[in-house]
Amino acid sequence: MASQLRLRSALALVTGAGSGIGRAVSVRLAREGATVAACDLDAAAAQETVRLLGAPESGEPAPLRAHAAFQTDVSETGAAKRLMEQVQASFSRPPSVVVSCAGITRDESLLHMSEDDWDKVIAVNLKGTFVVTQAAAQALVSSGCHGSIINISSIVGKVGNYGQTNYTASKAGVIGLTQTVAQELGRHGIRCNSVLPGFIVTPLTHKVTQKVRDKVIRMIPMGRIGIPEDVADVVAFLASEDSGYITGASIEVTGKRLVWGEGGGQRSGAFRR
Ligand code: NAP
Repeated sequence: MASQLRLRSALALVTGAGSGIGRAVSVRLAREGATVAACDLDAAAAQETVRLLGAPESGEPAPLRAHAAFQTDVSETGAAKRLMEQVQASFSRPPSVVVSCAGITRDESLLHMSEDDWDKVIAVNLKGTFVVTQAAAQALVSSGCHGSIINISSIVGKVGNYGQTNYTASKAGVIGLTQTVAQELGRHGIRCNSVLPGFIVTPLTHKVTQKVRDKVIRMIPMGRIGIPEDVADVVAFLASEDSGYITGASIEVTGKRLVWGEGGGQRSGAFRR
């Protein structure tokens, strides 16, 4: 729950805003005062997020027209640039907060993974983050505006995860990309950080069986699986000036899960202590 309006004059672009973490991030940033450009592959889902932004904690209807939905496939060539043009045309300024949440999984063990499943995951999770970050940075630099770019990676990008060579490589790439962007754009007043969630309950993780969830919970000292709002809290902090001297960081939001790696794949349904 936001305690103050830290983002009162901010325009925030959120990809993957139609579901899970991206939706929770959109809601949280709006509650902190930001105007949200909610982007998703699924136009109706993005619209639904914008509708939800109209129910602030006070019960007063929010200025719905302030927020807007955009349909984009971040993996499509040229799409990020077109999105940035649309957002700037709608709001007459570039977004000062950019959160890349769009992501997919196509799990399979290395021995059986198809090149197509590798390419799709890299295209959305890694290239999609690159093109959105680049388009936002170009718009901010050319207009002389400062900004905060936040990329949603994953803890498995640091430690690996059974059945996810494609996904873990894409998320490790996001961490490296973020660190380099922070080095290059600091002099322009643009910060870039990544967030590394652990197991968060969203449609992305719905396929995990209750048995596996119970095992996961036993591995988390905080005693519970994460919720999208846990990630949104950290994104709001990184978006705000409360984190004004933090850039190039990778912040883990995992409840300090103890065991990762072999047997931890979401598809396998088997874990080893
Ligand atoms: P989610 O509920 O499936 O949300 C992902 C959103 O991204 C969906 O609305 C999806 O749209 C959208 N999307 C997929 N491909 C896209 C594309 N090419 N262009 C634009 N939007 C696209 O998943 P989530 O759990 O909230 O995940 C959000 C981010 O957090 C992802 O990057 C994920 O890798 C990361 N993450 C999640 C967890 C977790 O445990 N949930 C842990 C670590 C990291 P459709 O529904 O139409 O496909």
